[in-house]
Amino acid sequence: MTIDQQVAEADAGVGRLWRRLGLPGLVDVHVHFLPPQVTAAVWAHFDRAEQHYGIAWPVTYRVGDDERVALLRRLGVRAFPALAYPHKPGMARWLTDWTLDFARRTPGCVPSATFYPEPDAGSYVGEAIEAGARVFKAHLQVGRYDPTDPLLAGVWGRLADAQVPVVVHSGSGPVPGLHTGVGPIGEVLRRHPRLRLVVAHAGMPEYAEHADLAVRYPGVHLDTTMVGTPFTESLMPMPADLPRRFADLGDKVVLGSDFPNIPYPYATQIEALERLDLGDDWLRRVLWTNGARLFGLGRDGTASEQA
Ligand SMILES: [Zn+2]
Repeated sequence: MTIDQQVAEADAGVGRLWRRLGLPGLVDVHVHFLPPQVTAAVWAHFDRAEQHYGIAWPVTYRVGDDERVALLRRLGVRAFPALAYPHKPGMARWLTDWTLDFARRTPGCVPSATFYPEPDAGSYVGEAIEAGARVFKAHLQVGRYDPTDPLLAGVWGRLADAQVPVVVHSGSGPVPGLHTGVGPIGEVLRRHPRLRLVVAHAGMPEYAEHADLAVRYPGVHLDTTMVGTPFTESLMPMPADLPRRFADLGDKVVLGSDFPNIPYPYATQIEALERLDLGDDWLRRVLWTNGARLFGLGRDGTASEQA
């Protein structure tokens, strides 16, 4: 499969925007690259999206890893992680080995890791931090685990101590899970208030409750993944005051996209953020500054030492 001409034309607008803003490109905190068999399983899941979510979800960027890396480069995405996440025990260490290796061989890819509540979680999370992981991913809906599980107590503590950010899917979208919603992750934050946590999808559909966490805790950020796009607005519309809250939280809102598993062009996410009409300075912070700070990147998007 190749990327269709219309998508390519729409995406040309992305570069025009960051150049106009005087940015070196974009930092996207929510991108997925997975081992080939996991990618195939995820795409098969989206093929059955009508069953799962009651709506078709055609994956726009359904091409090989190399081509997707090239697409990100063309869009100007200077830094992105390869967020992988387990849905059962015994998977996280292997996924982490894969994502760390992928980052080693892929310019622009920020080393990432993941975990699951299991007895060796504390040790492999520590090893991943030592191996250079700069961001972790936790998916409470797919993983179907309680983030307050005692098997994770050491993990959250370690991440808080190391100040390594964790992108957490804690919202109840597109479908609720046993441990989604602001309750369980709120309890983790109560126990580890210094945690650097990036709320995936800004917590949709519990946007307001997750924004409250970002107000209360200094390390809590909101990623923009799928927020404000026509697709999401038809399913889980944002509350009327979310743009105002995003403006107030200007240093804690970070660009996320869910590339490649999105049912529209990358440009649609960027246009949705422009449409919030929060000004060029807000866009600069969201599209670059905040993500670069989270990942410890220098002005040109390469890793600096003071992560
Ligand atoms: Zn995602």
